[in-house]
Amino acid sequence: MSLLDALSKLPGKCYAHPISSAPSSASKLNPYLPLPSAGNLLTNAAFLSTLPTPPAGTLINVLAADALATLRSEKAVALISRTAQEAYDHALLGLRLAQDEKAVVYHYISSEVEGAIEEVKDVQGWLDSALGSPNLNGHCDCVDADTAIAQALLKAYNAASLSLLKLTRRAQRPFTDHHCESSRLVINYLPSSISADNVLDVSLATPAPRDKLRHAAESVNEVIVVEAGSGKYGTAWASVVDALDGLAAPVRSILVGANASSAEITGAISATALVTRIGAALAAPTVLPTSITVPTPETTYTNLLHASPAPLDILNDPTKLSANESTSPLYAFGKAIALRRERGLLVELAKKVLKAPNTRPEVHEALAQWLLVRNEPGSGEAGKKIEAALTGATGDEAELLELGCKGHWEKSALWIVISNSWAHDLASSGLHHALASGLDINLLVYETAPSPFSPLAPKQTPKERKKDLALYALNMGDVYVSSVAVYADYAGVIDAMREAEAYEGPGLVLAYLPWGEKEDGEDVGGEKAGPLERLRETKRAVSGGWWPMFRWNPSLPDHKKFSLQSPRIKQALSEFLDRQTHLSQLTLATPAIDRSINSSAGTDIIAARKEKARRAYDALVNSLDSPGLLVLYASDGGNAEKVAKRLVARAKMRGVAATIRVLDEIAQTIPESLGAEKNVVVITSTAGQGEAPQNGRKFLKALPKLDLARTKEKLAETKLTVFGMGDSNYWPRKEDYIYYNKLAKDLFPKLLALGARELAPLGLGDDSDPDGYETGYKPFQASLWRALGVDSVEVVEAQEETVANEHIKIASAYLRGTILEGLADQSTGAIGASDAQLTKFHGTYMQDDRDLRESLKAQGLEPAYSFMIRVRMPGGVCTPKQWLALDAIADEHGNSTFKLTTRQTFQFHGVVKKNLKPAMQDINKSLLDTIAACGDVNRNVQCSVNPHLSHIHHTVYDFAKAISDHLLPSTSAYHEIWLDQKKVGGEAVQDLEPLYGTTYLPRKFKIAVAVPPDNAVDVFTNDLGFIAIVENDQVVGYNVTVGGGMGVTHSNKKTYPRLGDVLGFVRPEDGRLAAEKVMLTQRDNGNRQDRKNARLKYTVDRMGVENFKAEVERRMGKPFEPARRFTFESNLDTYGWVQGRDGKWHFTMFIENGRVEDNSRHQFKTGLCEIAKVHKGDFRLTANQHCILSGVASEDLPEIKRLLAKWGLDNINHSSLRLSSSSCVALPTCGLAMAEAERYFPLLVDKVEAIMEENGLAKDALVMRMTGCPNGCARPWNAEIAFVGKAPGSYMMMLGGSHKGDRLSKPWKSQVTEPEILELLRPLIKRWATEREDGEHFGDWVIRNKIVGETTHGTNFWEGADV
Ligand code: SF4
Repeated sequence: MSLLDALSKLPGKCYAHPISSAPSSASKLNPYLPLPSAGNLLTNAAFLSTLPTPPAGTLINVLAADALATLRSEKAVALISRTAQEAYDHALLGLRLAQDEKAVVYHYISSEVEGAIEEVKDVQGWLDSALGSPNLNGHCDCVDADTAIAQALLKAYNAASLSLLKLTRRAQRPFTDHHCESSRLVINYLPSSISADNVLDVSLATPAPRDKLRHAAESVNEVIVVEAGSGKYGTAWASVVDALDGLAAPVRSILVGANASSAEITGAISATALVTRIGAALAAPTVLPTSITVPTPETTYTNLLHASPAPLDILNDPTKLSANESTSPLYAFGKAIALRRERGLLVELAKKVLKAPNTRPEVHEALAQWLLVRNEPGSGEAGKKIEAALTGATGDEAELLELGCKGHWEKSALWIVISNSWAHDLASSGLHHALASGLDINLLVYETAPSPFSPLAPKQTPKERKKDLALYALNMGDVYVSSVAVYADYAGVIDAMREAEAYEGPGLVLAYLPWGEKEDGEDVGGEKAGPLERLRETKRAVSGGWWPMFRWNPSLPDHKKFSLQSPRIKQALSEFLDRQTHLSQLTLATPAIDRSINSSAGTDIIAARKEKARRAYDALVNSLDSPGLLVLYASDGGNAEKVAKRLVARAKMRGVAATIRVLDEIAQTIPESLGAEKNVVVITSTAGQGEAPQNGRKFLKALPKLDLARTKEKLAETKLTVFGMGDSNYWPRKEDYIYYNKLAKDLFPKLLALGARELAPLGLGDDSDPDGYETGYKPFQASLWRALGVDSVEVVEAQEETVANEHIKIASAYLRGTILEGLADQSTGAIGASDAQLTKFHGTYMQDDRDLRESLKAQGLEPAYSFMIRVRMPGGVCTPKQWLALDAIADEHGNSTFKLTTRQTFQFHGVVKKNLKPAMQDINKSLLDTIAACGDVNRNVQCSVNPHLSHIHHTVYDFAKAISDHLLPSTSAYHEIWLDQKKVGGEAVQDLEPLYGTTYLPRKFKIAVAVPPDNAVDVFTNDLGFIAIVENDQVVGYNVTVGGGMGVTHSNKKTYPRLGDVLGFVRPEDGRLAAEKVMLTQRDNGNRQDRKNARLKYTVDRMGVENFKAEVERRMGKPFEPARRFTFESNLDTYGWVQGRDGKWHFTMFIENGRVEDNSRHQFKTGLCEIAKVHKGDFRLTANQHCILSGVASEDLPEIKRLLAKWGLDNINHSSLRLSSSSCVALPTCGLAMAEAERYFPLLVDKVEAIMEENGLAKDALVMRMTGCPNGCARPWNAEIAFVGKAPGSYMMMLGGSHKGDRLSKPWKSQVTEPEILELLRPLIKRWATEREDGEHFGDWVIRNKIVGETTHGTNFWEGADV
């Protein structure tokens, strides 16, 4: 009888592991169950490391062992067997110890076991019998173990050995002493025997029989421990040293690696080295912890799995397993095999019963139906019919019923989340077996490492690179493989998961989630993990090509099997292929091309050539006679860069040969680069406590390392000055004032100390000065011109930007420019700068992904350009059909999401240039357009959509639409460029803009129509507002307001937000006329010299309200009537269902910050599409970025409610704070954003929400808004609390706007970060909760308590503000 047969016959459950190497004689054993308690497990040594943590009371027989594993359990026993009989006896001993002591027993059996086995007849009887007293003739009473556990185990071992001796007459000893006269003792921990004198073959490795060892070693001169291993030292050696502590004999170590011969071992024993290593490196069979703990961020993917339409089984989901189950992928794999086999058996049985002659007709019919649909969703229902038909069944039918009732009627999607130990060790891990099994299972592997492009990325070894698993799986050919990233393509992840489930075979989904193992807020090498960092990192990884996104579906036709989802890689691939084709043609044509040229060109040479070329170019473009000037800048927020560029432009106008560079670009060549210039200006902003901005840090670091003597020599002819930009009020404490402009103040003397001379005195710009940094910049610039000798050069420095804008408009041939040519240019993702100004009039902005800007620049690539498209949709109303069309446009041409904006329209982001025209055409096909959605024209006209006022909605909506249509530009350029319509009459017929002329308006122009008491459109923030006056349920006319506007420039106190003034009342029929004349008054009187002063609000203040009114009346040909009374109550949306007077229902839903997307928390985009398919009314967008499902008939209500509930869109159970908050888009798409808004604001709301709840204010509304820059798209300047981005992570903070939008806020803190915001708000909110008067809103309370002064008019916005 073989050993394996004998072991498998031992009582209790016996299991073999793993599947592929289960001994054939053990094939009757079920290898797929969890590790048993008090069981007897057979495993191959190679698979030991993949075992899950064994439960107490398990015996693990490690077959063909060549090394001992590190044991994990405190109560562990390790036995070593070198013969078959010893292995059998040790297995009995092990069972006994596992059973009695609840120990985990590892039993290592040599690969060379041989010899006959004498079995014990009544093993169970022995296991059940009581053990005798361990009075073992000296075998046990000498034990002196260090710990009580080890001592108890040793006693138990001795007792069991004695008992077994009585039963078998074979003695079991902790070691076998092959005593032989020798001055050295060899202690052998190898599972095989070794030939040497005086050898102790250890059988009980753990716990160590310390006294026995000491006794054996007492009389020798040296002790040699032989064990398997190739590390620094052996674990057995360490335990022997410990046991022999105090003895004089030195303890040598021999570590035996792979393939070491016995002669080598003998030779090592005879040598004298303290540690000898022989053989090749051995993978230590350490037992790895294999439990999966799914960190919180990774649940993103598991949440997505739960959206599976099929019944879902995540086989190692820790939350679903019982106590004795394991989260190990191995266990999950075993379970998957068992489940699939059971289902296979069910199908076979069903077929068998179907064919059986005596099967009853009802059973026959039920089975036939089920077999037809068995792999489809819903097959469980057919199964239930079988259950009903099989009541009281016997034989095969009973077995069939039993299997079906175990949950196999419907096919489950089986998923296994793969642990690191599986993913990192592909060749010898179970992952290979799972992929090669052909089973219909799906494996989910997380890659959590940051990309190599990340500044925070630690080095990743190739072994740890999980993305290579995809390659391995692709090689198999019949495995579905996809590589996805939830922060890059959410819909793609869902598609991949569903495809993997649909594929009948193994599926592997590699999911990227940077720092997924870290909780939010944990340090990730200098920054804190969080959704934003993960998103940015994903973008870097995907756009840089490090994490490719693709899907390989073997079930599709050949040409469709592989699909690449990474757009930038796609582009790079096609460019690469084009170039390759081109180059190969070139090579063929001129075979003499020296292929070594490229390889010999090192990066230094390339860099040096570039530098030389740059100098040559500069020399060429600049006059040699003019003074040279190098302007260096370091800038975080973009201001210093802007100043630097403007300085260069102005210097050139004065004949100075000026060039510009980023400070860090010369970090490696400071002496040469500065020494080559006669005049240098450094312009820098200040970060933190006087640190350098990001692109100046390398320069600063390089300064102290310079060779001073050499640098002085080089800079002998260089003159230099510095202009610093900072904010003297940034640090509220006086003692922190030293940080104001600290960098510039430190840098200037440092540079002079390097040998340069002063070109002009140090200049300091202060954001807190009345004109911002300009106050300090002007004298600095003047002194610079003097120093360069160009101060007397007369240059007209008009407002370049504004004039440029006006010129662009005039020269554009009514908004044509060279847009068409720009769109056709495939060499860049961008269009020309002047065309980028013109496309705004067509409703699209060029933007670039700000998250990627720096990393693409570092790779020498152009920014990731894309376009934002804004739809013109007066009044914010669209039909369900239009909604579906717009949804499809986001998927086909954009980034699969769209935004409901504060101007009641749709915005698409991420539309790349080649998709721009098709997207515009699709928008037009849906009977919408984008004309004048942006630009210096009248923009989308807003109107109140409050469902409580549905009975007059159509009146104000028609009014808004009529004004919008009336003020539309007339140019046919839009149709020509985007819709391919030819100019009517060729060049003979010219466009005419009767309202706008060739220069259009000085700036944008916004109109809104409000219906009191609802001011959700914030009518006073518009250039022109109409307040509907309703009498007897009829709109009798409108009060007209003028002069509202939100845009401000940080630190420029000449700019301010303003609320509109009421001019008077007009009848409905005069509304259009009034709108036109107000706009034309602005057209002719607005400031076209300075875009920062060009909005109507400045015109009104410059002219005076009364004069402005008179001018409008003159143009109208009639006066305004006196304004009528009106009262606003709120500028918020009211959520939930409302029934209108016509009996129709309206539901206002909450779409946080207007972002319509599918993500791990909700699938609003899909849900709204489903609703649009059945909805018969319309969709109305609110100015607070939410959506109203309008005009639902009573009979359709149940279905709409069902769908709203299904997609979570009926959830309006948020805190009042969240319901009344809003933010603009900002990063990463808005080119003007200085800080995050939409992506970050919900996180801030979470925290403020907690403060509100602490104070019992969960149900109290508070208008809180955030924008990424002072342009104010989300109307922060009249909110009760507002934050306006100044720099990444820091915001200007305002308080004191009103709850109904009729009072501006007041700047309170010039620059705050999140901790400061929370620290400031906590006591304020607490006070408000306790001190407020009945119903007093927060904004009113802060004014009454003089926390901030009241802003009574835009012109006193900055007054008394501590910023
Ligand atoms: S407020 Fe500024 S950052 Fe926000 S969307 Fe408007 S322009 Fe962009």
